[in-house]
Amino acid sequence: MKSRKCCSSGTTLKMIKLDARPSAPRAFTQRAGELLVKLKKKVAEGQALTKDDIKRSWSHDDVPRTLRAWHNEKCCYCERKRDPAPESDVEHFRPKLGVTGFPAHPGYWWLSHEWNNFLFSCKRCNQKYKGNHFPLREEEKRVDTPDSDLALEEPFLINPAVENPEDFISYRWDAEVDILVKPYGVDDECRGSKTIEILGLDQPDLMEERGALMLTLRGIEMEMRAGQYRGCKMIIDRAKNRIKAETSSKTPFSGFKRAFFRAQGLREYISD
Ligand SMILES: [Zn+2]
Repeated sequence: MKSRKCCSSGTTLKMIKLDARPSAPRAFTQRAGELLVKLKKKVAEGQALTKDDIKRSWSHDDVPRTLRAWHNEKCCYCERKRDPAPESDVEHFRPKLGVTGFPAHPGYWWLSHEWNNFLFSCKRCNQKYKGNHFPLREEEKRVDTPDSDLALEEPFLINPAVENPEDFISYRWDAEVDILVKPYGVDDECRGSKTIEILGLDQPDLMEERGALMLTLRGIEMEMRAGQYRGCKMIIDRAKNRIKAETSSKTPFSGFKRAFFRAQGLREYISD
């Protein structure tokens, strides 16, 4: 039987770090402020919050539109591009009404209208996997009131708005078959592996979607090799431009594509 060779990139990612967060839409800020006052009043009166209390300040079009543009119309976690109407969500990084595995925790209700807690994701990642999962490295540091210091918490889940997923997650793929591209954690604190687990980033659907890109990526790589072998500047330049275009943060799975070209020793041509 033919042996299979495994390739992996040195510093790769499934997710990709986002650019600086844009300002919140003005109308949203007003809506959010008013709703938060109501939430705080109810809590101060000792009443339990329900889903009905968390009015959806984020479902007006200005919020998903701004977040979607910020994320280059991609899910912040899996990097797929999808039809925004049926398949996209405003994701609350810290869950708003409850934390999976910790039934006594009320959820981070005071962040339900907090712009800095919003991300843009696909329904697969948000509803099928992330949900209310938000594990911490030290559970005793979890906060449960608005006046607590969130900086005390050490979440396992990587926040692509403030952290670079490349520091935590890498990839493996089969060099001869190229069908499945599997992510794995690389950091000592296991945040990469935990993030993969929480979001189902190693499930077959995503591994196959990345594998399907291999033919194109291999073709570009071969073009570059041919240009280098022949010393043909025109071919090399064309391959460079293709690498740059493919690895732009605006393209789906750009994190994985960057990883691929790094692993082939073509790091210098990757888009910034
Ligand atoms: Zn997703």
